[in-house]
Amino acid sequence: MNKAGILGRWTKEKSEELYGIKNWGAGYFSISDKGEVLVNPYKDNKESAISIMDIISGIRERGLDMPVLLRFENILDSQISYLNNSFAEAIKNLGYKNVYRGVYPIKVNQQQQVVEEVTKFGERYHHGLEVGSKAELIAALSVMRDREACIICNGYKDEEFIDLGLYAIKMGFKLFFVIEMPGELDIVLERSRELNIEPNIGVRIKLSAKAGGHWTESGGDRSLFGLNMSEVINLVDTLKEKNMLNSLKLLHYHLGSQIPNIRDIRSAVFEAVRVYAELVKEGAPMGYLDLGGGLAVDYDGSNTNYMNSRNYTVEEYCTDIVEAVMTTLDPSNVPHPVIITESGRTIVAYYSVLVFNVLDVASFEEYDLPDTLDDNTHEQIKNLFDVYKNINLKNIQECYNDALYYRDIIRDMFKHGNISLRERAFSEKIFWNIIHQIAREKTKLKNPPPDLREIEIAIADIYYCNFSVFQSLPDSWAIDQLFPIMPIHRLLELPKNNAVIADITCDCDGIIDKFIDLHDVRNTLPVHEVNNGDDYYLGVFLVGAYQETLGDLHNLFGDTNVVSIRISPDGHYDFVREIEGDSVADVLSYVEFDPKDMLVSFREIAEDAVREGYITPKDRKEIMKAYQDGIWGYTYYER
Ligand SMILES: *Cc1c(COP(=O)(O)O)cnc(C)c1O
Repeated sequence: MNKAGILGRWTKEKSEELYGIKNWGAGYFSISDKGEVLVNPYKDNKESAISIMDIISGIRERGLDMPVLLRFENILDSQISYLNNSFAEAIKNLGYKNVYRGVYPIKVNQQQQVVEEVTKFGERYHHGLEVGSKAELIAALSVMRDREACIICNGYKDEEFIDLGLYAIKMGFKLFFVIEMPGELDIVLERSRELNIEPNIGVRIKLSAKAGGHWTESGGDRSLFGLNMSEVINLVDTLKEKNMLNSLKLLHYHLGSQIPNIRDIRSAVFEAVRVYAELVKEGAPMGYLDLGGGLAVDYDGSNTNYMNSRNYTVEEYCTDIVEAVMTTLDPSNVPHPVIITESGRTIVAYYSVLVFNVLDVASFEEYDLPDTLDDNTHEQIKNLFDVYKNINLKNIQECYNDALYYRDIIRDMFKHGNISLRERAFSEKIFWNIIHQIAREKTKLKNPPPDLREIEIAIADIYYCNFSVFQSLPDSWAIDQLFPIMPIHRLLELPKNNAVIADITCDCDGIIDKFIDLHDVRNTLPVHEVNNGDDYYLGVFLVGAYQETLGDLHNLFGDTNVVSIRISPDGHYDFVREIEGDSVADVLSYVEFDPKDMLVSFREIAEDAVREGYITPKDRKEIMKAYQDGIWGYTYYER
């Protein structure tokens, strides 16, 4: 029994505390008086809260089955507003003399619905898009209409990518090519000369500042992307030589995602702004400072610098950034730049909830054992039984060691034919009762022995659930990311059981046995008893960022071409089979973009550009060709 349950009747407040929903829910999630989880995109407005259970029964009535990923669009809108308003507030309060222009990195959730919603709703804030591949740029151009918003092009860029970007600039879009590798500059300059379109160039730098956390490999001197300081100087010199320094307008860095500590964020800003000021001194027009991603989500609700949390609020993040930029630039009278962040996680994490039902439960109950054993019981089984009879608070570690010792001896005896299957089965019952007993005693200890830390997992119930960790929670599987998980109903009842969650892949990597906790990580999740035939639903929350895209669609790269090769003994070889990989259209349709609709939509946008005098009808023809070639082309780097 869970501790909280011992005292009196179970209430909604007890569930709130047990599952920490007020800590991680950010006002979007709460518990109703009926004991069901409510979702509310409008936070304070109580009227707009709806029960997830009602949604689920609606879904069931329509004949759809679990698992289901619920997406709450307005939460996306709310988060965009929240971030933009927080920056606006900081800018106003501190007297910063420029604006914030966020961009949403498409890779964080590439669903057409998300990208479209971000640009549509974000238009009032001129919230733009960040793209890391050609496919993402093509996706961005099908939805972007706001010419005040930025389009930031990161990642490797081939000619096709660059040409499309240049055409977008010609059509009046604020698009920047961020140079991440020294070699990229030449292609950008060459293509812009060829097409006679002036590029906007940004440069991604490697900072010496590094941040702690799971996802922060992008920072530091050895980070894979970005230019080091001597490469930056080379870039400036090349631009000067070619009389193109006027194109250098943006400085970018990306420390990594989910940065839990505000100090790391601040020290990176200080370092980057110094570089920015130096580039202005070199004569570059600049004007844009792009601080990348990293704004973290408080998944466990602890508000600490633990990797699943963050020790700052969105407001503090904005204030600290604006302040750091000002204090660094003001002494040298450098004008304040437009501040860009590429915040993805914060925008989309809250918006999706994965709901699944429990299919089956395996529980490890205690066995009924006799008080005494027959005299003819085997000596070693008697020894094990003695351990069982003598457990107390003081000797649990010793009993644990003894139990393992005798269990192993008994197993060996079985292997050698010295005891029967019945005897072995009986000894296992004793063993499991010992483990139960130890686990019970352990809860009374303030500092339990380290060996016994995970003993709960051994006797936890297993709740078999209708979903796949690999498909739906790849980060839980790959990097032990914790997400809030809880029942979405029956929250006025005491959750009597402690369980681990197994998915239907029946793979041991498909087991979740780490759960959020305010002070630590919990090994089991308190859950309700499931009677045969009852529906019991669990929700995994805050899964909107990075979870919805399968690993092999990262950045909208699809399947690669497959070629099977047969090699003969004489070293001769044949291609026996070729399988063509995904086109951009394929991978975009996987995330529900319709290539035909995109073409229609982009054709209209290009026509608008003609009407408004950005391009000629002849330009339009070329641009349309580039866009079409892109759609039907391969998703990978093309020469
Ligand atoms: C992944 C990524 C982001 C998004 O970071 P979040 O922490 O999710 O906001 C931003 N910029 C770049 C370059 C990225 O690779």
